[in-house]
Amino acid sequence: MKRAPGLAVVLVGNNAASEVYVRHKVKTCLDLGMCSQKLTPPDSISTEELLEIVDQLNARDDVDGILVQLPLPKQIDSKRILRALDPEKDVDGFHPYNVGCLVAALPAPRACTPAGIIQLLKRYHIPIVGKRAVVVGRSDIVGKPVSLLLLHEHATVTICHSKTPDLPGVCCEADILVAAIGRPAMITGDYIKPGATVIDVGTNSLTSREEVVRIFRNSPDRLAAFDKRGSVLVGDVDPIDMAEKAGAYTPVPGGVGPLTIAMLMFNTVESAERRLGVC
Ligand code: NAP
Repeated sequence: MKRAPGLAVVLVGNNAASEVYVRHKVKTCLDLGMCSQKLTPPDSISTEELLEIVDQLNARDDVDGILVQLPLPKQIDSKRILRALDPEKDVDGFHPYNVGCLVAALPAPRACTPAGIIQLLKRYHIPIVGKRAVVVGRSDIVGKPVSLLLLHEHATVTICHSKTPDLPGVCCEADILVAAIGRPAMITGDYIKPGATVIDVGTNSLTSREEVVRIFRNSPDRLAAFDKRGSVLVGDVDPIDMAEKAGAYTPVPGGVGPLTIAMLMFNTVESAERRLGVC
């Protein structure tokens, strides 16, 4: 390698959650000795102006990966922005070319959260081949790509969404259950087959003390955290039921989230190696 890999992160406006995510991403880059540049155009930026920034990053030799933090403000045509990225530098794996490669199982950057989930299953030696996998959620960034990756790993995959009848019944068939819904603790014990592996992708902020008491069954630690910060995080799966019924599970926080950042770093290093002709 002739230089450190470089990641450019574009953070538009002042979305508080996005600022936290971007801070973690930039810090991880620096901790690993990678170059990281954060661009912070104002909330009022137009699609044309943002396209100009993307074009400049596409042309830069020292930038191996470009991440445009979503969601973008309403006036921005997000799909146009994602299409404008050089697919080779699209370390989030959202460009239609890279999505096509995912469908066709061709090498290309994969969406970070789904790729992290597969890494986690493999590294914990959780069998996937021939297993029943149920994914709740069909978003472009989690539900669809993780379903395809599980399919490529030879699981039998069912994708569920808000119109799926008898969701608990379908989920109970899962050896591997992935919840990517965005609804706090929606997946309770009735949805979990005893011993199943449960991947909780949800990241929901609870701001009601009553909800914290109900979901965490009066846990003194969580209540103390809530009283200190005014909010606590919970996934899409009921944390107490998950701990009781699952054979293995990812906690929130600390499960899928850090893996997403790890896979972003992986995609950036791979892009740098490809561009520098190292691999
Ligand atoms: P999204 O785009 O809002 O998609 C949510 C999906 O859940 C949709 O497909 C929706 O179905 C489905 N759904 C909603 N209510 C449902 C219900 N009652 N029953 C069954 N399905 C239902 O969300 P996302 O972007 O995939 O994110 C999901 C969660 O993961 C969020 O909490 C997000 O913050 C979190 N997340 C975490 C990470 C991480 O790194 N940890 C990364 C990405 C996302 P329809 O399609 O029918 O509407």
